Amino acid sequence: MLKVADIETFYGPSQALFGVNLEVNAGEMVALMGRNGMGKTTTIRSIFGLTPPRRGAIEFDSQSLIRLPSYRIAKAGLGLVPEGRRCFPNLSVRENLMVTARPGEWTLGKVEALFPRLEERRSQMAKTLSGGEQQMLAIGRALMTNPRLLVLDEATEGLAPVIRQEIWQAIRLLKKQGQATLLVDKSLSEILPIADRCTILEKGCTVWNGKPAALDNTIRDRYLGV
Ligand code: ATP
Repeated sequence: MLKVADIETFYGPSQALFGVNLEVNAGEMVALMGRNGMGKTTTIRSIFGLTPPRRGAIEFDSQSLIRLPSYRIAKAGLGLVPEGRRCFPNLSVRENLMVTARPGEWTLGKVEALFPRLEERRSQMAKTLSGGEQQMLAIGRALMTNPRLLVLDEATEGLAPVIRQEIWQAIRLLKKQGQATLLVDKSLSEILPIADRCTILEKGCTVWNGKPAALDNTIRDRYLGV
């Protein structure tokens, strides 16, 4: 489905990615891992055309995404929940969900069933939600576009434990429903049981790719330890 091959991405003169390789197949949940500053967010920005790579290839269902504007990438079927969630603060929860809606399996009713809090707060302005609820809204908005691939960048970072659990519960349901997802998160205890595969970045390069069961302590200590 998604194939990222040897991409190199720069911020001005400074190179952030030196060869990232990554694949997500239909129905898969893939975890993109690595310590702080190793290039996870830059990889996602590259996929969505926000910081286009200078070299390498990105294909989605055999269509090249390189040099496509971000809206075309979204239209091709990729849905992004960016780090630091972005909702329309002065629109209601329901309006936020409706503005991104595209026909498909994910409807308002299904999204509200996935996140009952969003239904309870449907008439509230988005800016009055807690950080965790805004994150749920950001995920809900991405689902309303009916993406064939959902990309979550640190969806549970900095949230209260109860809300984190609710979001992980929703992610597990997404997995059950066969939603293809690329997931960046530091919480190994949550991510490893549900990931089909893990890709680890180190200094802007893919250094490991495999099933969570193959991720032994040596690899964990070398690439994921603090
Ligand atoms: P984190 O887990 O902290 O979000 P990350 O793995 O997502 O880290 P990136 O944010 O992709 O890492 O950063 C990769 C490298 O690119 C880092 O060296 C970082 O300093 C650099 N970088 C990130 N954003 C910019 C920017 N806007 N301008 C210049 N350099 C940047």
